[in-house]
Amino acid sequence: MKISRRDFLRLSALGLGSALITACGMDEALLTPDPTAQPTHTHLPPTQVPPLATATSPSEVLHSMGFDAFEGKVNTYQDEQYLYVESDGMPNHPLMIGIKSWQQQVPLPQFYTGNNAWRILLNPVIADNPVSVKTNLYRGAIALAANGVPIFNALNNRGDDAYLAGELDEYGGHSGRADDYHYHVAPLHLQDIVGVNSPIAFALDGFPIYGATEPDGSPMMTLDEFNGHFDANGLYHYHGTNTYPYINGGMRGIVTVQNEQIEPQPRTQPIRPHLQPLKGAIITDFQELGNESYSLEYQIDGKKAYVNYCVSGNTYTFEFLDLAGNRTIETYNRKG
Ligand SMILES: [Zn+2]
Ligand SMILES: [Zn+2]
Repeated sequence: MKISRRDFLRLSALGLGSALITACGMDEALLTPDPTAQPTHTHLPPTQVPPLATATSPSEVLHSMGFDAFEGKVNTYQDEQYLYVESDGMPNHPLMIGIKSWQQQVPLPQFYTGNNAWRILLNPVIADNPVSVKTNLYRGAIALAANGVPIFNALNNRGDDAYLAGELDEYGGHSGRADDYHYHVAPLHLQDIVGVNSPIAFALDGFPIYGATEPDGSPMMTLDEFNGHFDANGLYHYHGTNTYPYINGGMRGIVTVQNEQIEPQPRTQPIRPHLQPLKGAIITDFQELGNESYSLEYQIDGKKAYVNYCVSGNTYTFEFLDLAGNRTIETYNRKG
């Protein structure tokens, strides 16, 4: 474990005590001034734009996709039915900053691996009766972004537009009740990373979601009510947009829906009881300090408060520094 002097000073300034430092496996002896310290959030360099896809079958198209741009962060493999995508659900971009309606959840790495990996249908089939996100799919993910972050219905579980409600950060995401980070709008910023002809996401019905232009770079064609259309080869795809429905407006392809949720999809396992909205709070900073240690800053009426936390094996340690400077430590263990 190595954290920079700058990070350590920040932790100290925050009053981060020995309990958290010990719990997080931090050792001050390892702290060295690091003049070459990288910024906390490293943006992946834009990858080379691959040649225009010539594949005509959906599975071949899938194979060449945006997930590859996040190699090392996102792992894929497939069988005859599914593309499996493994990730920890944590994006590489700044997160949480700008949230104005906050339920006090934070981003924790998730375990979307093995039996709990994402499954994208390789050979999607157009449904006779598409499912609309206006009336269904209020639970769970409806799509998976190329960076391994799930995308939920643009309407939150109360039926409100999460973006307009101020619940989302600058990248259109926030953390759910299991401290699981996810988007509620299209991650259009991923287009620069994956290239114009690769999808920025896949809907869980198996159809790709492109950014604001057609995959050949031409202007976006007219969209149907699901934010999608058929291309010249008769293949269906969706687009991300800056206005509702932002992402796929439903499932144009056949999916299985149980209790307003598409199945199968990974399970998130909360490690602590979920919290309530914190009135008046605005998230003003979020730092990844390395070694699965994080610091979130929020303000109420201009006063700052912090949630510092770290993951060490199955143990999750939280340090809460409230507006009055009071400090509380909570520790949770993940089962299994
Ligand atoms: Zn959400
Ligand atoms: Zn299109």
